[in-house]
Amino acid sequence: MLSSDLKIIAGPCSAESYEQLRAVAKQLESVNLFAFRAGVWKPRTHPGEFEGMGSIALAWMRDIQAEFGLNVLTEVANSFHIESVLAHGFKLMWIGARTTSNPFSVQELADSLKGTNATVLIKNPTNPDLKLWVGGIERLYKAGIKKVIAVHRGFSTYEKQKYRNLPNWQIPIALRTEFPDLEIICDPSHISGLANNVFEVSQKAIDLKFDGLMVEVHPEPSNAKTDAKQQITPEEFKHLLINLKIRSRQAIDQEEIRELRANIAILDQQIIEVFAKRMDLVEQIGNYKKRNHIAIFQPNQWEDALAKFLKFSEDAELSQEFAKEVFKLIHQESIDIQSRIFRNVESSDPAS
Ligand code: PEP
Ligand code: MN
Repeated sequence: MLSSDLKIIAGPCSAESYEQLRAVAKQLESVNLFAFRAGVWKPRTHPGEFEGMGSIALAWMRDIQAEFGLNVLTEVANSFHIESVLAHGFKLMWIGARTTSNPFSVQELADSLKGTNATVLIKNPTNPDLKLWVGGIERLYKAGIKKVIAVHRGFSTYEKQKYRNLPNWQIPIALRTEFPDLEIICDPSHISGLANNVFEVSQKAIDLKFDGLMVEVHPEPSNAKTDAKQQITPEEFKHLLINLKIRSRQAIDQEEIRELRANIAILDQQIIEVFAKRMDLVEQIGNYKKRNHIAIFQPNQWEDALAKFLKFSEDAELSQEFAKEVFKLIHQESIDIQSRIFRNVESSDPAS
């Protein structure tokens, strides 16, 4: 369905029953999923809420993996979780936002993962702390985990606002600067908090060149045991994928070049306008020199102007050879303009 190289992950917030998992996997058979998600252990805010089906759900997911040829993944928060998912043949897992917020926990996970070939997704911490996210990723890399993917799921806020979690897009963008080769995918479900907003957040992530999406998909969202408001049906999810404006990497790159070229054209025009203004002043000086019988070429003035020009270009970190060549051309043109004035009658000097 998707012709792009985006990593698409979908599945329910929580694994509730084998039938529920199978219903989603079945309806998404036509989608080229990178992985199929479902929470087995759920980190709940209040005690007594549904905390996931636990280990039994791992066996369901293992069966889904086998039947549909999908890579399954779930959230891990301690070394027992890691041992359990590995024992059930999972190749991927994700570290949840609450866990990333705690360096002790991330270190425990990193230590348990040493020597494995697992792909580890790490969500941003709940608080907008880029360094904590970076630190978590560093702990994984230091433990020798090569396949790390960051997941942007937004940041908690006390204020009531449009989305459940603030996107603060500048944070994942800054993360990309820290790790240029790291893949970053977006979890629009946890940012949105509402099914109706999942599409717009997904489109924003695609426009910002995220490497993929992790979306919560449930066969009956209104009956979901967790995150009921933000889950979408498999049909809605397929619809979302069809409607996303996904441009190929090549098209995005070309667009970027087009934009840069357009900006260069604007600057080139400005350079010409500045040259024209400079030559206008040169003309005024030429007229003055002619009136006052002053020689066109003034060596001291040339050296002084050249030194200033070179200093400006040094400050702007431009090559000195380039600056010297440009200045020679400007100076030559200035002399030519003034020579013409000396040969002809004064013309454009308004003061004459
Ligand atoms: C989830 O993906 O269901 C989940 C609990 O996510 P987060 O850690 O982003 O809150
Ligand atoms: Mn959820």
